[in-house]
Amino acid sequence: MEKIENFLREREKNHLIRFLNPADYRAPAGIFFNGKKYVDFSSNDYLGLSHHPALRDAAKQAVDKFGVGAGASRLLSGDLGICHRLEEKIAEFKRKPQALVFNSGYQANLGIISALCGKDDVIFFDRLDHASIIDGIVLSGSRMFRFAHNDMNHLDLLLKKERRKFKEAFIITETVFSMDGDKCRLTELVDLKEKYNCRLIVDEAHATGIFGARGSGVVEEMGLLEQVDLIMGAFSKALGSFGGYLAGEKRVMDYLINAARSFIYSTALPPAVIAVNLAGLDLIEKEPFRRRVLLESAEYFREKLRQKGFNVRGETQIVPLILGDNGEALRVSGKLQEQGYWARAVRPPTVPRREARVRFSIIYDHSKEILDRAVSDIEKCYD
Ligand SMILES: *Cc1c(COP(=O)(O)O)cnc(C)c1O
Repeated sequence: MEKIENFLREREKNHLIRFLNPADYRAPAGIFFNGKKYVDFSSNDYLGLSHHPALRDAAKQAVDKFGVGAGASRLLSGDLGICHRLEEKIAEFKRKPQALVFNSGYQANLGIISALCGKDDVIFFDRLDHASIIDGIVLSGSRMFRFAHNDMNHLDLLLKKERRKFKEAFIITETVFSMDGDKCRLTELVDLKEKYNCRLIVDEAHATGIFGARGSGVVEEMGLLEQVDLIMGAFSKALGSFGGYLAGEKRVMDYLINAARSFIYSTALPPAVIAVNLAGLDLIEKEPFRRRVLLESAEYFREKLRQKGFNVRGETQIVPLILGDNGEALRVSGKLQEQGYWARAVRPPTVPRREARVRFSIIYDHSKEILDRAVSDIEKCYD
């Protein structure tokens, strides 16, 4: 117990302690705590699909038809036909021969990386890669080399020095970085992957549904669907639901079904979740205006803050306001909360030291009026 006490006291001292905060209700239009409504800048429900009537209906119909649980893991008897339809649809969406659904984005990364990469292999990964990627890498037992965020010279140097010492090599990156709101340098990553004979795995958790003409992600936007070997993603962000997936070659999926432990040893997703994910992919196709409006709003908000002299980053729907000090990030987020905004402070270890920030997630439902008012209320934090 001494270990626990020391840990908690250390975190408290450095303004790093986290705690849960139950909401009464949340919807794209706002989040409610103790009866009070806040404008929600903390949601990954970028397109507002979590409450979309088409997705609600898909869930209700699936519950009536299939019940609420899958009953078993997929390799036992929890494997429903609709999950295969979902996988076919993802494969088509990502222009890959095959896809595999995982129970969450976290479980996808954990299972994919630990199964594909082994002790004789090497992984090169971006410093800002998500914790689920890091955990997959650690679990794989591979040698790992971290390159500075989006620094292609650094990656080139590491590859030059280390690549030939190992059998297989992997480069793993997010396409949209969740804490900086920027994109990876995909064209250069593809060049390096080819130059050094590596496999490139990308995580499109924050990009799926938002970038590219068909909304399939940054890989599509950059015209590199064929060059990127494996595309991972999640239904838990812009698709408003839950679950993860991988798209790529058929033999890779055949292998993962037999080797990815997070896939094998977990009950299949509830049928309603699968049905909702199918409906969500339909909507991405049918309602492209959602992603267009979202990206325009995000650019509008970022530019307005920049004009007011704030240190903002990114080029996506994620707009981080960099404040540096942990206490300062908490102060600004607290002030915003008093004014009716839910925008969270993000502190180390989620972001590098001295780079604490308040992270604004823009969603489709944030109107220009809401964003204008938010900018002026952010300024009031400094009165
Ligand atoms: C959210 C996220 C995940 C995990 O997805 P879940 O479905 O929430 O488990 C994985 N990778 C990245 C980059 C993410 O942002």
